Amino acid sequence: MLEIEGLSAGYGQVRILHEVSVRIDAGEIVAILGSNGAGKTTLFRALFGFADVTAGSLRFGELDLRGTPAFEIAKAGLVHVPEGRGLFPGMTVLENLMVPVQADRGRLQDRRDMVFEIFPRLKDRLGQAAGTMSGGEQQMLAIGRGLMAQPRMLLLDEPSTGLAPKLVDEVFERLALIHEREPGMGILVVEQSVADTIAICSRGYVMERGCVVLDGTSAELQNASALEEAFLGTTGHR
Ligand code: ATP
Repeated sequence: MLEIEGLSAGYGQVRILHEVSVRIDAGEIVAILGSNGAGKTTLFRALFGFADVTAGSLRFGELDLRGTPAFEIAKAGLVHVPEGRGLFPGMTVLENLMVPVQADRGRLQDRRDMVFEIFPRLKDRLGQAAGTMSGGEQQMLAIGRGLMAQPRMLLLDEPSTGLAPKLVDEVFERLALIHEREPGMGILVVEQSVADTIAICSRGYVMERGCVVLDGTSAELQNASALEEAFLGTTGHR
Protein backbone atom coordinates (compact mmCIF):
# COMPACT_ATOMS: atom_id res chain seq x y z
CA MET A 1 0.00 0.00 0.00
CA LEU A 2 2.83 2.42 0.90
CA GLU A 3 5.79 1.76 -1.36
CA ILE A 4 9.01 3.69 -1.08
CA GLU A 5 11.50 2.63 -3.75
CA GLY A 6 15.06 3.87 -4.07
CA LEU A 7 14.38 7.12 -2.23
CA SER A 8 17.19 9.65 -2.06
CA ALA A 9 16.35 12.89 -0.30
CA GLY A 10 17.78 15.68 1.82
CA TYR A 11 17.72 19.40 2.41
CA GLY A 12 19.14 21.61 -0.33
CA GLN A 13 22.61 20.33 -1.15
CA VAL A 14 22.73 18.02 1.87
CA ARG A 15 21.85 14.43 0.99
CA ILE A 16 20.41 12.58 4.00
CA LEU A 17 18.66 9.50 2.56
CA HIS A 18 20.39 7.15 0.14
CA GLU A 19 18.27 4.78 -1.96
CA VAL A 20 15.89 3.82 0.80
CA SER A 21 13.25 1.18 -0.01
CA VAL A 22 10.45 0.44 2.45
CA ARG A 23 7.11 -1.20 1.92
CA ILE A 24 4.08 -1.58 4.16
CA ASP A 25 0.77 -3.22 3.32
CA ALA A 26 -2.72 -2.66 4.69
CA GLY A 27 -3.17 -4.14 8.15
CA GLU A 28 0.54 -4.45 8.98
CA ILE A 29 2.46 -2.86 11.85
CA VAL A 30 5.98 -2.20 10.63
CA ALA A 31 8.91 -0.58 12.45
CA ILE A 32 11.68 1.66 11.23
CA LEU A 33 14.43 1.54 13.83
CA GLY A 34 17.47 3.72 14.00
CA SER A 35 19.42 5.91 16.37
CA ASN A 36 19.60 9.72 16.41
CA GLY A 37 20.19 11.25 13.04
CA ALA A 38 19.69 8.02 11.07
CA GLY A 39 17.20 9.84 8.82
CA LYS A 40 13.91 8.45 10.12
CA THR A 41 12.12 11.79 10.37
CA THR A 42 13.51 12.87 7.00
CA LEU A 43 11.89 9.78 5.47
CA PHE A 44 8.47 10.90 6.70
CA ARG A 45 9.14 14.48 5.62
CA ALA A 46 10.03 13.31 2.13
CA LEU A 47 6.68 11.53 1.80
CA PHE A 48 4.81 14.79 2.36
CA GLY A 49 7.08 17.01 0.28
CA PHE A 50 8.91 18.60 3.24
CA ALA A 51 12.33 17.32 2.22
CA ASP A 52 13.94 17.56 -1.21
CA VAL A 53 13.51 14.28 -3.08
CA THR A 54 16.22 13.73 -5.68
CA ALA A 55 15.42 10.15 -6.73
CA GLY A 56 13.02 7.31 -6.17
CA SER A 57 9.34 6.55 -6.31
CA LEU A 58 6.82 7.14 -3.53
CA ARG A 59 3.41 5.56 -3.89
CA PHE A 60 0.43 5.23 -1.57
CA GLY A 61 -1.96 2.84 -3.29
CA GLU A 62 -2.65 4.42 -6.66
CA LEU A 63 -1.42 7.85 -5.56
CA ASP A 64 2.01 9.12 -6.65
CA LEU A 65 3.16 11.12 -3.62
CA ARG A 66 5.82 13.06 -5.48
CA GLY A 67 4.26 16.38 -6.41
CA THR A 68 1.04 15.71 -4.47
CA PRO A 69 0.34 18.40 -1.83
CA ALA A 70 0.47 17.25 1.81
CA PHE A 71 -3.23 17.92 2.42
CA GLU A 72 -4.19 15.71 -0.54
CA ILE A 73 -2.00 12.94 0.82
CA ALA A 74 -3.69 13.21 4.21
CA LYS A 75 -7.08 13.19 2.50
CA ALA A 76 -6.13 9.95 0.75
CA GLY A 77 -5.69 8.41 4.23
CA LEU A 78 -1.96 8.66 4.94
CA VAL A 79 -1.85 10.38 8.32
CA HIS A 80 1.28 11.49 10.14
CA VAL A 81 1.64 11.90 13.92
CA PRO A 82 4.84 13.96 14.16
CA GLU A 83 7.59 13.74 16.73
CA GLY A 84 6.91 16.49 19.26
CA ARG A 85 3.22 15.73 18.72
CA GLY A 86 2.23 18.92 16.85
CA LEU A 87 -0.66 19.70 19.21
CA PHE A 88 -2.20 23.12 19.68
CA PRO A 89 -1.19 23.73 23.31
CA GLY A 90 -3.75 26.47 24.01
CA MET A 91 -6.65 24.47 22.63
CA THR A 92 -8.57 21.90 24.65
CA VAL A 93 -8.36 18.15 24.23
CA LEU A 94 -11.68 18.15 22.40
CA GLU A 95 -10.68 20.99 20.08
CA ASN A 96 -7.43 19.25 19.22
CA LEU A 97 -9.29 16.04 18.43
CA MET A 98 -11.67 17.86 16.10
CA VAL A 99 -8.99 19.68 14.07
CA PRO A 100 -8.50 17.14 11.27
CA VAL A 101 -12.03 15.93 10.95
CA GLN A 102 -14.45 16.49 8.11
CA ALA A 103 -17.23 13.98 8.61
CA ASP A 104 -20.92 13.75 9.28
CA ARG A 105 -22.04 13.84 12.91
CA GLY A 106 -22.75 10.13 13.18
CA ARG A 107 -19.35 9.08 11.96
CA LEU A 108 -17.68 11.73 14.09
CA GLN A 109 -19.38 10.33 17.16
CA ASP A 110 -18.23 6.81 16.25
CA ARG A 111 -14.64 7.93 15.78
CA ARG A 112 -14.66 9.82 19.07
CA ASP A 113 -16.10 6.84 20.93
CA MET A 114 -13.41 4.63 19.44
CA VAL A 115 -10.65 7.07 20.46
CA PHE A 116 -12.06 7.32 23.99
CA GLU A 117 -12.25 3.55 24.27
CA ILE A 118 -8.56 3.32 23.41
CA PHE A 119 -7.55 6.35 25.48
CA PRO A 120 -10.12 6.67 28.31
CA ARG A 121 -8.04 9.36 29.97
CA LEU A 122 -8.76 11.76 27.11
CA LYS A 123 -12.47 11.51 27.81
CA ASP A 124 -11.91 12.64 31.40
CA ARG A 125 -9.98 15.69 30.23
CA LEU A 126 -11.97 17.04 27.32
CA GLY A 127 -11.89 20.65 28.50
CA GLN A 128 -8.24 20.72 29.57
CA ALA A 129 -5.74 22.72 27.51
CA ALA A 130 -3.51 20.26 25.65
CA GLY A 131 -0.35 22.12 26.72
CA THR A 132 -1.07 21.47 30.41
CA MET A 133 -1.28 17.69 30.02
CA SER A 134 1.57 15.33 30.88
CA GLY A 135 3.91 14.13 28.13
CA GLY A 136 2.24 10.72 27.98
CA GLU A 137 -1.24 12.24 27.80
CA GLN A 138 -0.13 14.57 25.02
CA GLN A 139 1.26 11.64 23.07
CA MET A 140 -2.03 9.80 23.45
CA LEU A 141 -3.92 12.89 22.32
CA ALA A 142 -1.69 13.21 19.26
CA ILE A 143 -2.32 9.58 18.31
CA GLY A 144 -6.04 9.99 19.07
CA ARG A 145 -6.16 13.01 16.79
CA GLY A 146 -4.51 10.99 14.04
CA LEU A 147 -7.15 8.29 14.46
CA MET A 148 -10.01 10.79 14.19
CA ALA A 149 -9.17 11.24 10.52
CA GLN A 150 -9.93 7.55 9.95
CA PRO A 151 -6.58 6.85 8.30
CA ARG A 152 -5.84 3.97 5.99
CA MET A 153 -2.29 4.20 7.28
CA LEU A 154 -0.90 5.87 10.39
CA LEU A 155 2.70 7.07 10.50
CA LEU A 156 4.05 7.53 14.02
CA ASP A 157 7.30 9.41 14.54
CA GLU A 158 8.97 8.31 17.78
CA PRO A 159 5.91 8.07 20.02
CA SER A 160 8.11 7.14 23.01
CA THR A 161 10.23 10.31 22.89
CA GLY A 162 10.50 12.03 26.26
CA LEU A 163 8.36 9.50 28.12
CA ALA A 164 9.21 7.60 31.30
CA PRO A 165 9.56 3.82 30.74
CA LYS A 166 6.16 3.04 32.28
CA LEU A 167 4.45 5.47 29.93
CA VAL A 168 6.37 4.08 26.98
CA ASP A 169 4.93 0.66 27.82
CA GLU A 170 1.46 2.18 28.01
CA VAL A 171 1.75 3.90 24.63
CA PHE A 172 2.88 0.64 23.00
CA GLU A 173 0.05 -1.29 24.68
CA ARG A 174 -2.36 1.22 23.15
CA LEU A 175 -0.81 0.80 19.72
CA ALA A 176 -1.38 -2.95 19.96
CA LEU A 177 -5.00 -2.23 20.94
CA ILE A 178 -5.42 0.16 17.99
CA HIS A 179 -4.16 -2.59 15.70
CA GLU A 180 -6.78 -4.94 17.14
CA ARG A 181 -9.56 -2.38 16.75
CA GLU A 182 -8.59 -1.22 13.24
CA PRO A 183 -7.21 -4.39 11.67
CA GLY A 184 -7.23 -3.02 8.11
CA MET A 185 -5.18 0.06 8.96
CA GLY A 186 -1.42 -0.02 8.42
CA ILE A 187 0.82 1.43 11.13
CA LEU A 188 4.39 2.49 10.41
CA VAL A 189 6.23 3.37 13.59
CA VAL A 190 9.62 5.04 13.63
CA GLU A 191 11.46 4.44 16.89
CA GLN A 192 14.69 4.22 18.81
CA SER A 193 13.08 2.09 21.48
CA VAL A 194 13.93 -1.27 19.93
CA ALA A 195 12.47 -3.88 22.30
CA ASP A 196 9.08 -2.18 22.73
CA THR A 197 8.69 -1.64 19.02
CA ILE A 198 9.72 -5.10 17.92
CA ALA A 199 7.25 -6.58 20.41
CA ILE A 200 4.24 -5.09 18.58
CA CYS A 201 5.48 -5.15 14.97
CA SER A 202 5.49 -8.02 12.52
CA ARG A 203 8.43 -6.69 10.48
CA GLY A 204 10.92 -3.91 10.57
CA TYR A 205 13.74 -2.02 8.91
CA VAL A 206 16.90 -0.69 10.51
CA MET A 207 18.31 2.59 9.26
CA GLU A 208 21.77 3.91 9.76
CA ARG A 209 23.20 7.09 8.27
CA GLY A 210 20.41 7.48 5.78
CA CYS A 211 20.46 3.88 4.50
CA VAL A 212 18.41 0.79 5.27
CA VAL A 213 21.04 -1.60 6.61
CA LEU A 214 18.78 -4.46 7.65
CA ASP A 215 15.23 -5.65 7.31
CA GLY A 216 13.33 -8.70 8.47
CA THR A 217 10.60 -10.12 10.66
CA SER A 218 10.51 -9.14 14.32
CA ALA A 219 12.03 -12.47 15.27
CA GLU A 220 14.85 -12.02 12.78
CA LEU A 221 15.53 -8.50 13.98
CA GLN A 222 15.48 -9.58 17.60
CA ASN A 223 18.31 -12.01 16.91
CA ALA A 224 20.28 -9.89 14.52
CA SER A 225 23.66 -8.83 15.76
CA ALA A 226 23.59 -6.20 13.04
CA LEU A 227 20.75 -4.53 14.89
CA GLU A 228 22.94 -4.15 17.91
CA GLU A 229 25.70 -2.83 15.72
CA ALA A 230 23.42 -0.27 14.14
CA PHE A 231 22.73 1.13 17.59
CA LEU A 232 25.97 0.45 19.42
CA GLY A 233 28.54 0.29 16.67
CA THR A 234 29.25 2.90 14.07
CA THR A 235 26.47 5.26 15.09
CA GLY A 236 27.62 5.79 18.68
CA HIS A 237 26.14 4.79 22.00
CA ARG A 238 22.79 4.36 23.66
P1 ATP B 1 16.12 11.50 15.67
O1 ATP B 1 15.90 10.11 16.17
O2 ATP B 1 17.22 12.21 16.42
O3 ATP B 1 14.88 12.31 15.50
P2 ATP B 1 16.17 10.88 12.84
O4 ATP B 1 16.59 9.50 12.50
O5 ATP B 1 14.71 11.18 12.81
O6 ATP B 1 16.80 11.31 14.21
P3 ATP B 1 16.45 13.07 11.00
O7 ATP B 1 15.71 14.04 11.88
O8 ATP B 1 15.80 12.57 9.78
O9 ATP B 1 16.95 11.82 11.86
O10 ATP B 1 17.85 13.75 10.65
C1 ATP B 1 18.78 13.13 9.77
C2 ATP B 1 19.90 14.11 9.49
O11 ATP B 1 19.37 15.22 8.75
C3 ATP B 1 20.55 14.72 10.74
O12 ATP B 1 21.95 14.71 10.55
C4 ATP B 1 20.00 16.12 10.78
O13 ATP B 1 20.93 17.01 11.36
C5 ATP B 1 19.78 16.44 9.32
N1 ATP B 1 18.71 17.43 9.11
C6 ATP B 1 17.46 17.37 9.60
N2 ATP B 1 16.72 18.44 9.23
C7 ATP B 1 17.54 19.19 8.46
C8 ATP B 1 17.39 20.44 7.74
N3 ATP B 1 16.23 21.09 7.73
N4 ATP B 1 18.48 20.90 7.08
C9 ATP B 1 19.65 20.23 7.06
N5 ATP B 1 19.84 19.05 7.70
C10 ATP B 1 18.82 18.55 8.39
